Amino acid sequence: MGEQSIKRPRGTNDCFGDYASELYHLRKLLLEESALYGAREVDPPLFEESRLFHRSVGESSDVVRKETFDLVRKGDKDYTLRPEFTAGVNRLVLENKLYSSPDLPLRFSYFGKVFRYERPQSGRLREFHQFGVEFLDRVVDLDTSLDALILSLTATKKALGRKVLVKLNYLGSFASRENYKKALYDYFSPKIEEMCEDCKERLRTNPLRILDCKVEKDQELAKGAPKIEDYLDEEDKSDYKVMVDTLDGMGISYQKDPGLVRGLDYYTGLVWEIYDSENPSFPALGGGGKYSTLMHDIGGPDFEGIGFSLGVERLMLDMSEERKEDLSKERDPDLFVIDLERKGTALKIMSRLRKEGLVCYAPSFAKALGGAFKMADRIKAKKTLIVFPDSHLELKDMESRNQDTIEESALLKALKGE
Ligand code: AMP
Repeated sequence: MGEQSIKRPRGTNDCFGDYASELYHLRKLLLEESALYGAREVDPPLFEESRLFHRSVGESSDVVRKETFDLVRKGDKDYTLRPEFTAGVNRLVLENKLYSSPDLPLRFSYFGKVFRYERPQSGRLREFHQFGVEFLDRVVDLDTSLDALILSLTATKKALGRKVLVKLNYLGSFASRENYKKALYDYFSPKIEEMCEDCKERLRTNPLRILDCKVEKDQELAKGAPKIEDYLDEEDKSDYKVMVDTLDGMGISYQKDPGLVRGLDYYTGLVWEIYDSENPSFPALGGGGKYSTLMHDIGGPDFEGIGFSLGVERLMLDMSEERKEDLSKERDPDLFVIDLERKGTALKIMSRLRKEGLVCYAPSFAKALGGAFKMADRIKAKKTLIVFPDSHLELKDMESRNQDTIEESALLKALKGE
């Protein structure tokens, strides 16, 4: 064998074996959960015009400032691999005029790869999967907002197999948020020389982002910053109160977190993040929020949206081994076929049984009989069929080790245990 010099890029995963199987089952579980809320799956392209992300996700977000994978220009347009789904889903709704449906809110779910040029570390990849939903309407009302929030919790809980913790904040209307940004600007301006280079930039582009800074010294300074609650108008305050009262009434626990601003620029109103309550120091499993101007900013009608996304690899990293096994239990083969005849009888039998929903397969020709039985045990086949050169059949029960001659017509019954 030669020496392998080309390796998988940093921050990516090769998907096979248990990882592939967990991914498959998570995808199914999460999309089925969102279908209970009426969401239909959509899948926008993996890459879009760069302008889409700059306009929607926002120039000041880290995701767009530093983390996009921008493709080398080939024609007359710049393209970027999607760093998130919300912008693409909104563009899809606009381009296909789905907003003209009388049946509102529109409810979409998605599951797929996103790309961010981040420094890879545990739980932080450059290519990863997100699952999420977007609910869109002319005005996203409180019920729709809470429906999205509750779905994010039930989906995470089902996937993880245990309780989760949700942190909430309310960023208010566009006007309230602008007033708050100004207050933050005034607060941080005299301190900015002591702060990190990113915060210096954030002060200029979007001072809200400073509250998200992970540098310890900056976090200390941010503790004394004005609180968003003091900048909400009366309508915002009453909307927020109705939401938390409804959650209280439903017995859903939450934590209010006035420092939670989320990494992307488009949020107004309710924002939230989901954590593992048994492992609260583990980074956020997902987050979401309401946005009001995104559709308009990309040239569409005045539509609002609320959505969330979960980091699928984060969920996997946080999951217990038992939960993973439980989740991705593959069906053991119903029948393992050792074909000593090689004239097509085995293939014919397998295709008939597969039509009945049974899992059947055969080892490669090179396997000798002893090796083939060992393989049947390793892959936990329930029964093994031997097709002899004279075409007669014998069925072996791998648990009792009993082996008997059997007619082809009696196979299905024997396998189904009828
Ligand atoms: P965001 O779109 O930034 O709000 O991220 C939503 C969720 O995606 C986060 O809560 C994480 O679970 C996950 N996530 C974000 N960035 C990464 C990354 N670089 N690697 C793995 N998961 C990520």
